[in-house]
Amino acid sequence: MSLSDKIFSAGVVGAGGAGFPSHIKAKSKVEFVIANGAECEPLIHKDYELMLHFGEEIVNGLEILLESTAAKKAYFGIKKKNSLAVESIKKHFTNGRIDLSLLGDFYPSGDEFELVYEATGRLIPPAGIPLDIGCVVNNVETLYNISRAEENKPVTNKFISINGAVKKPSSFFVPIGTPFSELIKVAGGTTINPFGIFVGGVMMGHLTFDLDEVVTKTTAGLIVLPAEHYLIKRKNQPEQNWHRIGKSACDQCSYCTEFCPRYLLGYQVEPHKVMRSLGFTKTGSAVWNQMAELCCSCGLCTLYACPEDLYPKEACDKAKIEMRSEGIKFIQQKPVKVHPIKEGRRVPLKQLVQKLKLQDYNVHTPFTNTKVEPGSVKILLKQHTGEACIPQVEVGSKVNEGELIASVPEGKLGANIHSSINGKIDEVTIEHIRITS
Ligand code: SF4
Ligand code: SF4
Repeated sequence: MSLSDKIFSAGVVGAGGAGFPSHIKAKSKVEFVIANGAECEPLIHKDYELMLHFGEEIVNGLEILLESTAAKKAYFGIKKKNSLAVESIKKHFTNGRIDLSLLGDFYPSGDEFELVYEATGRLIPPAGIPLDIGCVVNNVETLYNISRAEENKPVTNKFISINGAVKKPSSFFVPIGTPFSELIKVAGGTTINPFGIFVGGVMMGHLTFDLDEVVTKTTAGLIVLPAEHYLIKRKNQPEQNWHRIGKSACDQCSYCTEFCPRYLLGYQVEPHKVMRSLGFTKTGSAVWNQMAELCCSCGLCTLYACPEDLYPKEACDKAKIEMRSEGIKFIQQKPVKVHPIKEGRRVPLKQLVQKLKLQDYNVHTPFTNTKVEPGSVKILLKQHTGEACIPQVEVGSKVNEGELIASVPEGKLGANIHSSINGKIDEVTIEHIRITS
């Protein structure tokens, strides 16, 4: 079986973001393979812990991808400040084809456009992908899973960190489908009540109050914060308020654009112009919305740049949805040229943490090898880019950890799904499979 077939069978997806099926990247032929260990979301440290404790597996995943893609070189993107993780990784570089790409402690350094530029000096074409310029990028946990897939081990666990208002901030493996209530137990419980949970980070993640929500193949980490925390109050505003306030209060100062990392890289992303679409819904939105097409939703404009506490990132998200529904596609005409002031405008993570009022929670999340054994798991059939999987099991049947329970529809993009525990199938719907241990 080829590496790409093994990765497909094992159900590996990008663990750091949208869950793009990894077998597609393994099939491509490129010049450079890039490992993404940048991890820049405030308070999430799971990639750091994974690199510290599983450096060998991660580098092995990178090496086998180097072979399968026939790349001439690999770059390992990692923050210079994480010296222990750098050492843990570096000692496994044996083939002379991997170089470190040491990154500063800025937000967002893990954005693919940013990382590819830092590592190779190349700029991804507007609306393009790294493949367009001969690169593939994989998050370090994806590389860990690729290394296991080569040994025919499917993805059944997710490595996550839990931080914020919990008694024992930590990082650990957890069966996919585990409810958040179990993760909070592993972290010793919360230190406050009521609380909210940011899933995947305060900048790019979503807010939930639902402890029955479950871990998927892309859950990076949970951040528990008091319900009255500034970030929860901001995020929890009804959507119509974001846009109603923005319409009346935006003074077009353009700070949101001046700090936008995509704008500074040379892409035509101008959130202050997108804000205009809130006021000119009938006549201007088709024009102004286009300035959102290349936005990566990093959240910096809303949570750092805007002096009025408005929601330009959310205006960009809305603009992208409207453009898709109207069939409008923006094509950048100007050549991509890095802004001369880019370096001076980068946002240090420390400064961002202060602005977000998170200093009190900015602590390590050390790895613990506690075995998490939930009574039941709810495994979603769509945890990846592409089509939902088709169940291959029936209610009442017994399954073992690692057994295939749902597969990708014939000829479609997707990633197989395996049981994450030993147990009995309790429920099969079009959205999930529930297994009781
Ligand atoms: S920073 Fe805020 S006030 Fe200034 S243009 Fe952007 S959204 Fe408007
Ligand atoms: S969220 Fe804001 S700062 Fe980030 S890329 Fe989009 S427009 Fe730029």
